[in-house]
Amino acid sequence: MPPGADDSHVIRGNTLAELASAIDKRLAGLRVEDRRRHPGQQLRRDLDRHRGPVQRAGRGRPDTDFHRGETAIQLIFNGPVKEEPDRQNPTLWPLAEQGPYYAALVTGGTLDTKGGPQTDPDGHVLDDLGQPIPGLYGVGNCVASASAQAYWAGGATLGPILAFAHRAANAAHTEPADQNP
Ligand SMILES: Cc1cc2nc3c(=O)[nH]c(=O)nc-3n(C[C@H](O)[C@H](O)[C@H](O)COP(=O)(O)OP(=O)(O)OC[C@H]3O[C@@H](n4cnc5c(N)ncnc54)[C@H](O)[C@@H]3O)c2cc1C
Repeated sequence: MPPGADDSHVIRGNTLAELASAIDKRLAGLRVEDRRRHPGQQLRRDLDRHRGPVQRAGRGRPDTDFHRGETAIQLIFNGPVKEEPDRQNPTLWPLAEQGPYYAALVTGGTLDTKGGPQTDPDGHVLDDLGQPIPGLYGVGNCVASASAQAYWAGGATLGPILAFAHRAANAAHTEPADQNP
């Protein structure tokens, strides 16, 4: 992490037992329903299961659980692997025998929206007849996405936000204040 960055999402343990305990402690502070009840205990079993075939093969193995590394986009997001040419599956690698170990919770989140009020290209929020509401602007996740039902590609949320925020700010700047109800 860069100095000064908030890394409170990172769970740490010098040993796997410490990491398991830290995961259980973190989850205990959240209202997480998990049928296994003790995810930290499950960690040891998961790691043993992962490690066995990896160590026997001496390199990455096919991911029979989640099929990581089987599609082109997974390999692209995984990054370059030139320094590890023997790796069979570049998205998996044996875990270190010694800590420290780290974990982070992977949970649901919101990337973008596909709803909300519609806007025109200058960020005016439109009423139900498609007319701009004076003095009301919106950009980003609080309004309907410029891409409608599609997600064009990586950057397709922040890019339009920057462009339409620039246009909305310019439009708001020139709108006479006395037009605002
Ligand atoms: C994990 C993740 C990865 C992403 N990766 C990419 C990417 O690679 N490329 C890309 O283009 N986009 C990416 N996105 C999407 C992009 O980050 C969001 O679309 C963008 O940040 C939305 O910006 P925003 O300003 O509309 O909303 P936000 O960034 O959500 O800002 C809204 C702000 O309003 C504040 N707020 C909420 N309610 C209130 C209230 N009642 N009073 C005061 N303040 C309030 C919130 O605290 C927040 O600071 C990613 C999103 C996620 C979650």
